Amino acid sequence: MGTGLMHLGNALMAGAFGKGAGTATILLSHAHWDHIQGLGFFAPVFVAGNQFTVWGPGGSPQVLEDILEGQMDPNFSPLQTLKNFSAKFDVRAIACGEPFQADGLTVTAREHPHGATTALAFRIEEAGRVFVYASDVGYPESGPPAAAIAHYAGADVLLHDTTYRPEDQLKRRNRGFSSYEDAIAAAAAAKVGRLVTFHYDQDYSDDDVDAIVAICTTRLEPHGIGVVPAREGDELEI
Ligand SMILES: [Zn+2]
Repeated sequence: MGTGLMHLGNALMAGAFGKGAGTATILLSHAHWDHIQGLGFFAPVFVAGNQFTVWGPGGSPQVLEDILEGQMDPNFSPLQTLKNFSAKFDVRAIACGEPFQADGLTVTAREHPHGATTALAFRIEEAGRVFVYASDVGYPESGPPAAAIAHYAGADVLLHDTTYRPEDQLKRRNRGFSSYEDAIAAAAAAKVGRLVTFHYDQDYSDDDVDAIVAICTTRLEPHGIGVVPAREGDELEI
């Protein structure tokens, strides 16, 4: 639900969501700004009849709803409250490690450290195909622990944050993000099919990102692991 949600919403309005007949599930890893600020700019929420189920952290639906409500406070947003949305929101708290069904997919969440807080990584399965979303992952200095590798094991696609070059991660360890070395280690140990890189430090240029992708590709191709740099609008077939 970062700011890219605005473009997705505008595209969805051409279909059922434009007619108030859309339903969707949102998996929320954590509630930092870059993961929730698109919500107030997401056109389908202003169409009555649309329904969203938001699965996220917090331990209880009320805690999560209060967090999402907080960003709608009149000091931050003219929308004032989530209650001004026309669409229906069903907020649910995730129990880590317990698989749940979402739109016909089986989802299992694992909590990992993320600086002063935690975030959830999602393993999403359907008919033997596996997609893993793992972002804002602050591993210990020893790298991805065995429990994280088990969560990603054998995924066809691992979408993993590649926020920092190792030398920059050293300076900002307390922020709780991965370096490309962490992502490479996780992909190789979990023997995934493809690593999708994304969530780079905001100060990196396109050339910096190209260099990170090139390093990941050089290191992982010998293991038979493809590297795909995420691009807005990309569709991946699994
Ligand atoms: Zn974060």
